[in-house]
Amino acid sequence: MIKIKVYVFTALLICLSGYFSSVQGQETGYVMTVKGKIDADEMGKTLIHEHIVTNFEGTKNPNQTFEDQERAINLILPHLKYIKSLGYETLFECTPSYIGKNVELLQQLSELSGLNIVTNTGFYAAVDKKYLPEIVYKEAAETLASMWYDEWKDGIADSGIRPGFIKLGVGKGELDTIEQKIFKAGMILSKKTGMTIAVHTGDGNSIKSQARLAEENDFDLQKLIWVHAQNGNDQERMSMAEKGIWISLDGVSETRMDEYIKMIVIIREHSLLSRLLLSHDDGWGVEFDNGELVLKPFGNGNKIPYRTISEVLIKKLNALGFTQKQIDMIFIENPKKAFGILN
Ligand SMILES: [Zn+2]
Repeated sequence: MIKIKVYVFTALLICLSGYFSSVQGQETGYVMTVKGKIDADEMGKTLIHEHIVTNFEGTKNPNQTFEDQERAINLILPHLKYIKSLGYETLFECTPSYIGKNVELLQQLSELSGLNIVTNTGFYAAVDKKYLPEIVYKEAAETLASMWYDEWKDGIADSGIRPGFIKLGVGKGELDTIEQKIFKAGMILSKKTGMTIAVHTGDGNSIKSQARLAEENDFDLQKLIWVHAQNGNDQERMSMAEKGIWISLDGVSETRMDEYIKMIVIIREHSLLSRLLLSHDDGWGVEFDNGELVLKPFGNGNKIPYRTISEVLIKKLNALGFTQKQIDMIFIENPKKAFGILN
C-alpha cells in the first residue's frame, strides 16, 4: 500500500514538474533587443530586414568593432532618427556573423535614436560559403547550436549583447550537407529558445527543401522566415505561405516598385497577407581606404536608405485599396508574430 502511494505521489510530482516547466519555465511575450528584453507589444511598426553596416569582404570574428565608431554613428544616426519620426519603433538588423556585424555600434545607435534594434546569431552559407567559419565542417549540428546558445545566454563575442533571432544563409537548390547542418542547428536552437529562424534563401527549390527538413523534424513552420522570397515565384510563395512559413519580400526599392506591388497584390488575392513581411534590405557597406573607415550605401535601388516603404510603397498600396488594418498587419502584427517569443 505504502509502495503504491509512493508511486502515485512520484507520478503526480512528475506531472506537476512537466506542467510548471512548460508554463513557468519559459518566459514568453517578449523580443530580445540589443538593449535587452522588451515586451513584444512594444515592437510597434517594424522594419524586419535591414542592415546597418555589412563588410562584404568578410571578417575573422563573428563581430567587428571599428576603431572609429563615431564616424559611423555620425553618418547613420540621422537616418534612424528620421525613420523613428516616420513612426517605426523597431528594426531587425540582419547582418550575419563574420560579415561585419557590429553589435556595439547597434547598441549605441539604439540608445541614441530611441529605436529598438534586434541582432542575430547563426551562420551564413550562401555566396559559395565564403563567409563560413572552419568549425562548420568539423562539428555536428548540436555543437553549432550550443555555440549559438552561448551567444543567446551570454551575448555575442564579449559584448554581453544578446541576439533576438537566428539568421542563416543558404544558396540555390536542395540544401547540401553543410546547409542541412546549419539548418538543423537552427531548429535545435529555435526549439530551445523560442527564437525564429530567418533564412537568406537562393530560390524556391531551396525553401521547399527547408520545408521538408523542417517537417521531418516536427519543426513549427511558423518559426521559419523565407528571406528573399522575391527570388521565388508566385506559386512557390503561396504554397509556402499556406504551410505557415513567413514570406519575406526584401529589397523594396524605387527601381523595382512595380514588381513588388504585383507580388503583394497576388498575396492579397490569395488571402495570405497574414504571412507577409516587407523590408528594404538597405544598409551601408564597410570599406577601409588606407585604414580609414569608408561607408557606402548598398544602392539596392533606393537613393536614401530605409524610406521607400513609407514614402512610396504604402501610398501606392493605399491607392490600390489596401486598408489601414492591412497595412498595420504587415508592419505591426506580422513582425510581432514572426519574431516575438510568444509561446
Ligand atoms: Zn539582407
